[in-house]
Amino acid sequence: MKPTPNAEPEQPGEKKPASDLLNEQKAREFDEIATHVFAPIYPVMAGQILERTGKKSGTAIDLGCGPGLLATALAEQSSLRVYALDLSPAMLLVASEHIQASGMVRRVVPVLGDVHAIPFDDSTVDLVVSRGSWFFWDDLGRAFREIHRILAPGGLAYIGGGFGNARLKAEINRTMSQRGPEWEKGVQERSQKNNPDRVRAELGRAGIVSFNLIQDETGFWAVFTKGGT
Ligand code: SAM
Repeated sequence: MKPTPNAEPEQPGEKKPASDLLNEQKAREFDEIATHVFAPIYPVMAGQILERTGKKSGTAIDLGCGPGLLATALAEQSSLRVYALDLSPAMLLVASEHIQASGMVRRVVPVLGDVHAIPFDDSTVDLVVSRGSWFFWDDLGRAFREIHRILAPGGLAYIGGGFGNARLKAEINRTMSQRGPEWEKGVQERSQKNNPDRVRAELGRAGIVSFNLIQDETGFWAVFTKGGT
């Protein structure tokens, strides 16, 4: 069965309600950080994910794609068709701009959706990735169950957060700390929230018994497959 995303992102230029304009301001603020500070991590991380999972063709989804920079980097370094999914129409507008600028419109497709009810058929996706989004999910266990549901047999999920490698992480910490004192506090809060014990428990709640937790200079990642290996 082919993946069937069933929602279209908002098109650039469409009229938006006032609440959405606020979201657009937030999306632009995150985009400014992603393009000016985080930018070097996405190609590095895409390379790590492709190497560690071995999934270089077929279908991939980037959940909580934000500006879409990881989704685009994955497509650029592989033959994957990548669906860039986010809950925020404003964020998808920003992602669409980056996808167009990268020339990857045929292989990176924006999709409006929620990780708690992913708009894809069962067993259709070869690689599910997500970076820095799981801190915002209301129900981690439900999201893990959804990811497991859409994974194709033998497909792999690579979900978590990080900054590529020790050097990039140190550089980003330095730059973001100079921008404001709240950065370090936020990093600490996020890592406490999705700590290994909680992630293990939520994977268990989702019925996922076979998984790897990677904790190294690349970040903290939960990796699992369908059927377990
Ligand atoms: N992955 C991107 C990156 O690394 O640049 C963006 C990370 S940003 C910190 C988190 C993103 O997750 C936001 O774009 C937000 O809209 C999205 N998000 C939060 N909750 C979500 C949900 N339930 N379903 C889909 N996306 C969600």
